[in-house]
Amino acid sequence: MKLFFASGNQHKKTEMSRLLGGIDLVLPSEVGLEFDVVEDGKSFVENAIIKAEALYDMVHAPVIADDSGLIVNALGGEPGLRTARYGEDVFGRVLSTKEKYMYLLENMEGIEDRSAEFVCALCLIISPNRRYIIQETAEGKIALAPSGTTGFGYDPVFYNNEAGMISAELPEGDKDLYSHRGKAARILREIIRKNMEE
Ligand code: IMP
Repeated sequence: MKLFFASGNQHKKTEMSRLLGGIDLVLPSEVGLEFDVVEDGKSFVENAIIKAEALYDMVHAPVIADDSGLIVNALGGEPGLRTARYGEDVFGRVLSTKEKYMYLLENMEGIEDRSAEFVCALCLIISPNRRYIIQETAEGKIALAPSGTTGFGYDPVFYNNEAGMISAELPEGDKDLYSHRGKAARILREIIRKNMEE
C-alpha cells in the first residue's frame, strides 16, 4: 500500500514513518504536487480531516494527516489550535521555538494549576468511505523553567506525567513511548498493518 502523508515537512515525514514501524510515506511535494491547505477547523480532529481530505482529493490513494498541539488548562485551553503560531498575534511576528515556550512560561507566572496535555489527531483515509480517526494525549504539567536538550518544540517546558520527566530530558527515542504522537501512531500502525494484510 502506497501511503501519502499530508505534510510539507520532511522531518515530520521521517518521524511519522519511524512511528509507524518504518512504513514508506510519500509527501505531496515528492510527486510534484503543491499542497497548501488552510487549517481552519475547530479542533485537532477537524484539521487532520481537512488535510487528509484535501490530499485524498488530489491523489485518490490512501493518505494520512496529523494535527497536534498543547492545551493548558489554566489558560483556558491555550495555545491549543494556535500552538504552532503562539504569540504571533501579540508580537506581530513569527516567534522562535524558544521564544514561544518562554512566552508560555511568562503567561504561566504565578499560576498554581500547571496541568496541561499534548494532543495528537491522526486521520487515515483508505477510500472515500473507509476512514479512521485517532486522537491521543500525553498528560503533564508546564514546568517552572526550561530543562533538557532532546525533542523539539515545547518539550523543554513540558513535564510528562507518565514518564515522570520533562520531555526534553528523555533520552532520544524514549519519548515515543509516552508522547501523544507515539500513542496515536501505534494505534494507526495496527490499522495499517491489518489493511495491508487484506
Ligand atoms: P503541528 O502539528 O505541526 O501543527 O504543530 C503543532 C505545534 O505543537 C508545534 O508548535 C509543535 O512544536 C508543538 N508540538 C507538537 N507536538 C509536540 C511535542 O511532542 N513536543 C513539543 N512540541 C510539540
